[in-house]
Amino acid sequence: MRHAVVIGASVSGLLAAAALSRIAERVTVLDRDRLPGEDVHRRGTAQSRHAHGLLARGLEVMELLLPGLTVELMERGAFGGDLQADCRWINEGRRLAPAPGRMPGLLVSRLLLEGQIRRRVSALPGVEVAGESQVADLTHSGDWVTGVRLVSGETVSAGLVVDASGRGSRMPAWLGQLGFPAPAEERVEIDLTYTTRVFRRRPDDLAGDPVVIMAATRAVPRAGVALAMEGDRWIVTIGGYGDAPPADLDSFVAYARSLPAPDIHELVSRAEPLDEGTHHRTPASVRRRYERLPRFPRGLAVVGDAVCAFNPIYGQGMSVAAVEALRLGEWARRDRPARELFRSIARVVDAPWDIVAANDLRLPGVRGRRTAKIKMVNAYLERFHRAAEHDTELGRRFLRVANLLDPPSALLRPACLFRVLRGGSDVVRGDTGDAVPAGEPSYPARHQN
Ligand SMILES: Cc1cc2nc3c(=O)[nH]c(=O)nc-3n(C[C@H](O)[C@H](O)[C@H](O)COP(=O)(O)OP(=O)(O)OC[C@H]3O[C@@H](n4cnc5c(N)ncnc54)[C@H](O)[C@@H]3O)c2cc1C
Repeated sequence: MRHAVVIGASVSGLLAAAALSRIAERVTVLDRDRLPGEDVHRRGTAQSRHAHGLLARGLEVMELLLPGLTVELMERGAFGGDLQADCRWINEGRRLAPAPGRMPGLLVSRLLLEGQIRRRVSALPGVEVAGESQVADLTHSGDWVTGVRLVSGETVSAGLVVDASGRGSRMPAWLGQLGFPAPAEERVEIDLTYTTRVFRRRPDDLAGDPVVIMAATRAVPRAGVALAMEGDRWIVTIGGYGDAPPADLDSFVAYARSLPAPDIHELVSRAEPLDEGTHHRTPASVRRRYERLPRFPRGLAVVGDAVCAFNPIYGQGMSVAAVEALRLGEWARRDRPARELFRSIARVVDAPWDIVAANDLRLPGVRGRRTAKIKMVNAYLERFHRAAEHDTELGRRFLRVANLLDPPSALLRPACLFRVLRGGSDVVRGDTGDAVPAGEPSYPARHQN
């Protein structure tokens, strides 16, 4: 392939370019924003002001696409840890039993991560990353897409155009202009508002643990994440389903007190604030079913949030984008119809989508289809989390699924079922942990103002 154009220079566009650079003679990545040389927030990725966790699978694949990235990020202040030993994962108000899990994680701000990926991709031979280049629509000849037209009127021709323009992608409308059908859209209406503040981090905060990830419960549909990041800082995001956490410090701290466990409140009530706080609203998780389209133009692909934009609280978007970039590269090498790529992407998206949809549909205000399967899985998971509070092996298995290393079905294997059933009513001894009476949460189930 002589030339590929990628629309969008955020995480999925840049990783797509990295994958395509191994196949195409030239790759041009276009973004409507001016792309700064240094790591500063920009309009097109407003989410960079909020906590971004990088899952183990995402880190693994980014490293495959851009070898040495992890070390470069660490040289710039990111730091590593063990996802089971060092992180406080709290489901149903209960902390997953900590234990050495041999599952490496990397703590890095979204700004630094995207900035470093951009620096690496821009330096790849044949790749150009161009800011201030907003794509207005596609150019085509019959059923073949031949390039893009910019709002400036300039056209850029390409053998392959990849849409990585995010949740707000205009691809459904562009397809209509070319006479092709738009993909069906699945939505889970979550009405989730994030409020984020940055604090100074002291080494003894939270007994040195650098991560808290706290899921919403049916009783308290509020979630929170506190991630240590470079520059001795915490980024703390709290999210309300159907309700907006306030940004001013006193109200933020009071809201944190109402989360399903006390850890984040403990942190923000003592730490020194470093900013004024910022909001972000996510109305829905959205999945566009490109793989089900009967017809699709040649020379065109779609990846990243443009295909599926998840509830951000599960931290999956960048990792899914990384795996999709690998699939895109494999597909482009074989020069097959787009349907094959979309089927392969659908297989990548299925598991994280099921995790997100099922979990969110536990919550009372969330709108979507509550199938019998979802209800059954959720009843099982509640029991699973009760047992995983004491059983380190269940904790390990949960983390492998949450980090996209294993499929969700791994939690239903007989070995897990047995431990879960035992854990609900028994004393469970984890592989590495001490015996703890099961059924007694290490945190009170609910903390209210
Ligand atoms: C609040 C929030 C928190 C999140 N937290 C996490 C997390 O913890 N972990 C995680 O893995 N993921 C998280 N995500 C998701 C993650 O940010 C995205 O999955 C990731 O950025 C990949 O998205 P993308 O590159 O497909 O699209 P985006 O990041 O939305 O980027 C789209 C890009 O396309 C450009 N663009 C748009 N239209 C055009 C056009 N017409 N022409 C040219 N350029 C255009 C934009 O300027 C932008 O740069 C979060 C998302 C949000 C909103």
